[in-house]
Amino acid sequence: METTEKRNTIKSINPATNVLLKEFEITSPEKLEDILAKADKAFKTWKNTSFEDRAVILKKAAELILDKKQFLAELATLEVGKKISESIGEVELAAKFYNYYAEHAVDFLADKPVKTPLGDAFLSYDPIGTLLSIQPWNFPYYQVLRVGAPQLMAGNTMILKHASNVPQCAQAMEDILQEAGLPDGVFTNVFLPGNKVGELMDDPRIKGVMLTGSEKAGASIAIAASKNIKKATLELGGSDPFIVLDDADLDKAVQMAVYGRMYNSGRACASPKRIIVQENIADAFLAKALSIFDKLKVGDPMDPSTDVAPLSSESAVIEVLEQVDKAVEESATLVRGGHRIDREGAYMEPTLLTNITENMLAFKEEIFGPVFMFYTVKNDQEAIDLANATDFGLGCTIYASQDRAVKIGRQIDSGIIYINQLTTATPELPYGGTKNSGYGREQSEEGIHEFMNAKIMAIAKN
Ligand code: NAP
Repeated sequence: METTEKRNTIKSINPATNVLLKEFEITSPEKLEDILAKADKAFKTWKNTSFEDRAVILKKAAELILDKKQFLAELATLEVGKKISESIGEVELAAKFYNYYAEHAVDFLADKPVKTPLGDAFLSYDPIGTLLSIQPWNFPYYQVLRVGAPQLMAGNTMILKHASNVPQCAQAMEDILQEAGLPDGVFTNVFLPGNKVGELMDDPRIKGVMLTGSEKAGASIAIAASKNIKKATLELGGSDPFIVLDDADLDKAVQMAVYGRMYNSGRACASPKRIIVQENIADAFLAKALSIFDKLKVGDPMDPSTDVAPLSSESAVIEVLEQVDKAVEESATLVRGGHRIDREGAYMEPTLLTNITENMLAFKEEIFGPVFMFYTVKNDQEAIDLANATDFGLGCTIYASQDRAVKIGRQIDSGIIYINQLTTATPELPYGGTKNSGYGREQSEEGIHEFMNAKIMAIAKN
């Protein structure tokens, strides 16, 4: 267990062992002032740097990330407890974002001619200044880069306030950009607890904010942003449906449902949290799912043979188990798991719940852990209604014949629908939700435009 007495620091703790790895002083108000001043000053030159010059730096950063892949992956595994293979996958994905925007930003932000009877007109996309990037721990590199890469290429500067349990990953992202030659002040990491961020939002040098995290943090940032008339994008939680209908490839659907739900120990925003299966194939689906479930090996995230790693912290495992207990207390059926594993670290059993009904908290809340919630429906309409019976609207996966799946997908209120493949992330596709899953888009061309001033230039006819 953590041994030092409580100090005002940001702590890096290994959730697989509960050992304190490192501590960082919280960024002092004086240092924060210096960082804000430098970011503001750096913007004045960075915004006028050519796309070509910015691209050289970002491509170098991508190269450095890949050179340091093993080191970065181990760091993420140490701080978050994610499986080493998943950390390696994340590092590779993260590097793609620097390369993608280094190549495409110039086209995404090219002047856009507009037809008008007034004469020639075009939109010029201007960066707006220093942005505050508030990110969660579950993908400690990808999350930073999916907003960092487009906005740095666009000419904005950025202050990163990462989750308090990944200070080493956060610092590594700044260090790599420095090593790649990014000018001082363009991207700076700060060590701040979430509850201190409101004050930063009031600073006039911060021009916009992107937050990925919980509904609670999202609501708090939305208030701070609107009070200060600042642009915000919010990428919040989800309780994604994974719909399987009777003309799906059943084996593939089962495999992806279990794999998807256990991936990152169930701690992905767009993890398939509610598995919704058509009644006439439900028994077969569940039997196959359980046969995979029973072979899952929970263990050390550094061990390549581990299937399910620990959660990210003591508080996370306690919270998820409380949610499971509450569901059982409210009469859900616990088919597998539901308990803490008797070893040091934030380990819990992969859990499978059925008979979850509308009145239960588990029906409404996001469960951010390896908890497979199984529902059955009679037909397509019931699947749509159940999928939409949530305050969230992030992702959704549908396994069915293609036309049927597309028809259903059109009626589901979420930002991301994947058909016959598991919801995932790639730089070319926008990412983001609707309803309480937030607003705005990251990734792709949509993502880079979120923090641009689309300035109209209208030139009178001669
Ligand atoms: P969280 O508590 O909201 O933390 C996320 C980030 O927000 C951290 O950097 C945190 O800092 C900061 N924060 C917390 N309270 C804040 C406040 N009042 N003002 C400003 N910043 C604040 O979220 P989490 O529980 O760690 O992360 C998991 C959540 O993120 C889940 O709901 C998940 O679904 C969601 N998520 C969404 C996406 C997406 O793309 N939609 C992607 C990944 C995760 P501290 O760590 O210092 O508290």
